[in-house]
Amino acid sequence: MADRPALPPSRGRGKNSDAERSFLQLTAHKKKRIGLFGGTFDPIHYGHLRAAEEARLKLSLDQVIFIPAALPPHKQNEPLSDPNHRLEMVERAVAGNVYFSVSEVEITCLEKPSYTVQTVEYFLSRVSVEIFCLMGMDSFREIETWKEYRRLLQLCRVVVVTRPGLPGGSRVSCPPKLKPLFSRSLRDLADSSKRIFILPITGSEVSSTQIRGLARAGQSIRYLLPPEVEEYIQEKGLYENPKSKAQNPI
Ligand code: ATP
Repeated sequence: MADRPALPPSRGRGKNSDAERSFLQLTAHKKKRIGLFGGTFDPIHYGHLRAAEEARLKLSLDQVIFIPAALPPHKQNEPLSDPNHRLEMVERAVAGNVYFSVSEVEITCLEKPSYTVQTVEYFLSRVSVEIFCLMGMDSFREIETWKEYRRLLQLCRVVVVTRPGLPGGSRVSCPPKLKPLFSRSLRDLADSSKRIFILPITGSEVSSTQIRGLARAGQSIRYLLPPEVEEYIQEKGLYENPKSKAQNPI
C-alpha cells in the first residue's frame, strides 16, 4: 500500500473534509469496499446521486468515489463543459455526504483519454480495497468497446444500475461472451467467478442531456439536481449557449 491516499485534495476549500477523512480511514483498516462511479457529470444530477446511494447501501460500500472524466473515450466528439466546472459541480453535490467523495485523478493525473481500467489500477496501487465499478445500463451496453475490459473485470466487479428511458428499453442484456461472469443476484457477490451484477434501483429518467437542453431553452432544471449545482450553473452561465460557456471560465 502506498503512503499517500488516492483521493486528491479538494482544492483547499475544506468542503469535503469529512469525506476525505473517511477516505483516509480506508488506508488504516483492512480491506474496505469502495464504489467508483465514473462519468462526465455535465452536470451531476439526482439520477447519479440516487444510484450511488442505493449502491452504497445494497453493496455495503464504505465509500463511493465520484470520478469526473477529463475526456471520456466514448464522448470525444461531443462538446463538454470544462473539467473544472464538472469537478466543482460534483464537489458541491457530494459535500454533505460523508460516504461520498470526489477524485480528480482522471482530470489531473491520468493520461487523456483516461480509461476505467487505468483508474481502477491507480486506486488498487494505492489502497488495499475491493473495488466495485458502478455504471448505468447504457454504459454497460458498450463494455466490449472498453479498453482491456476483460482485465477490468479481473480487477474489480462491475455493478450495473438500472436506468429507465433508454433507447431499446431498459432490459438488461449481457454480451454472450460475458454471460459466465454475469449474475442478477447480489447473493452471488461472494462467488469470485461472478464479476458483473445487476442492481435494480429506483428508476429515474433524468439525464445530463435533458438538463443541458432545459437550461439552454431557459427552462427550469429545479428538482432534477441539487440546488448547489443549480446555483453554480446559473452563476457561471453554463449551458446557456456555447459562447457564454467560453466566456465564463471557472
Ligand atoms: P449524458 O446525458 O450527457 O450522456 P448522463 O446523464 O448519462 O449524461 P453521465 O455522467 O454520462 O450522465 O453518466 C455517468 C454514469 O451514470 C453512467 O454510467 C450512466 O449510465 C449513469 N447514469 C446517468 N444517469 C443515470 C440515471 N438517471 N439512472 C441510472 N444511472 C444513470
